[in-house]
Amino acid sequence: MDLLSYIRLNVLRRFIDLKFFLQKGLTYDEIIRIELLVAVCLIVSTAGSFYMLIALFINTGVVVIANYIVFFLTAIPIVLYLIKKGKYTQAKLIMMFLGTLFMVIKASSLGPDSGMNLAMLIIVFAIFSFYSLEEYKHIIMNLLIVSASICFLEMTNYSYLGVDKSTQPFEYEFNLVFTILLCVLFFYVILRLNQHMNKKLKILNNKLVVKNAKLAKMNEELDGYVYKASHDIRAPLTSLMGIINLIKVENDPEKIMQYVALQEKCIEKMDSHIMQILDLSKNLKTGLVPLKIDLKALIEEIFLELSFYENAELISKKINVHHNIDYYSDPYRIKIILNNLISNAIKYSKIGNSNPIIEVNIFIDYSHTIMTVKDNGIGITEAQKDKIFDMFYRGTDKSKGAGLGLYIVKEMVNKLKGKISIQSEVNKFTIFKVEIPNLFQFFEKY
Ligand code: ADP
Repeated sequence: MDLLSYIRLNVLRRFIDLKFFLQKGLTYDEIIRIELLVAVCLIVSTAGSFYMLIALFINTGVVVIANYIVFFLTAIPIVLYLIKKGKYTQAKLIMMFLGTLFMVIKASSLGPDSGMNLAMLIIVFAIFSFYSLEEYKHIIMNLLIVSASICFLEMTNYSYLGVDKSTQPFEYEFNLVFTILLCVLFFYVILRLNQHMNKKLKILNNKLVVKNAKLAKMNEELDGYVYKASHDIRAPLTSLMGIINLIKVENDPEKIMQYVALQEKCIEKMDSHIMQILDLSKNLKTGLVPLKIDLKALIEEIFLELSFYENAELISKKINVHHNIDYYSDPYRIKIILNNLISNAIKYSKIGNSNPIIEVNIFIDYSHTIMTVKDNGIGITEAQKDKIFDMFYRGTDKSKGAGLGLYIVKEMVNKLKGKISIQSEVNKFTIFKVEIPNLFQFFEKY
């Protein structure tokens, strides 16, 4: 830690209620300005005490001593008190007013050779370090005051209150050193703030670039999505229209019943597609609603709802749930995840060959749940494994869907801050493993 950081953390912060300022939402540069104000108070007190000590020995005039005492007893304690109370705007104003008054009184009694014309620079530097450009009204007001003061001092030749002869031998050197010291400090702070702002700007810029790239990608995806979705929705509609035309010219009631059954399938397909789009949009728009979930009952319910799927009745089902704690998560999303994985396991099963089976294993502990859905169906090739979670990806002719199911699963798992992975061997097995946090702790708190 360098010396300046050490002073900032161990000396200046003692006078500042940092927590309070942070709670008030003060930015880093505003906090640096408050630290500067405290630093100025401490430097002025130390240098002033030193000055007065010397002044005592050389019999300095009453006006100079009284000016110092009044300034120390009013400005410094008031400013430090206001900062402690979090009223830093008032603290800055008081420091600037009393500081200027102090300098003008001092300069009015030291004569033209005392270096006080230089020392007035301190106030100009202080104005630009204490205030940000947004506080331009304060800056203008203080600059007007200091300009008027300098004019007054020049016109009265720095001797309006007489010339204190006793301070002459060291006054110029003292003022010069003090002016340089404070101006360097102010200049350093201005540079630091500038550096900080530049850094912040760079970070913001980088974030903007990343966001822009993301937005461009999303736009591209959206374009493709609108095109693909409208196509997928139009396909069953076109079939429906074709079937209607056939029905119009058909007299055989049996044939008509077949056409109606076909129409029903088209409508089901369209409905399923629209439901998927709605699920996606709901996942994006709505926050999590964590509730206690009975996973075993939920899986049984899903199997029941999917029992009308082709060949579903020929597949054996096995559900194992291991838990010694309740599971809490968003039931809406958990159901969609499991529903998509189980329906895929049914759709991509191998009927006739071996004994088709679907095994769902659930493990729940305090921090998360691990759910695996295993089937002994057609499997997934290595090359397909990277693509199956993409939007609209269909990996097989057996797919009658829109290729959205696993994309939705991935999006929902992400929303639940979980992970999903896959293991598969073609014609042997497929295992989807989903790991999702248990929001049990969340519920414990509320
Ligand atoms: P869809 O089922 O509508 O095609 P999904 O996104 O659900 O869309 O699945 C994408 C692809 O992943 C499927 O077309 C299929 O090739 C493959 N797939 C998904 N689950 C399984 C599974 N259990 N077994 C074999 N292949 C699967």
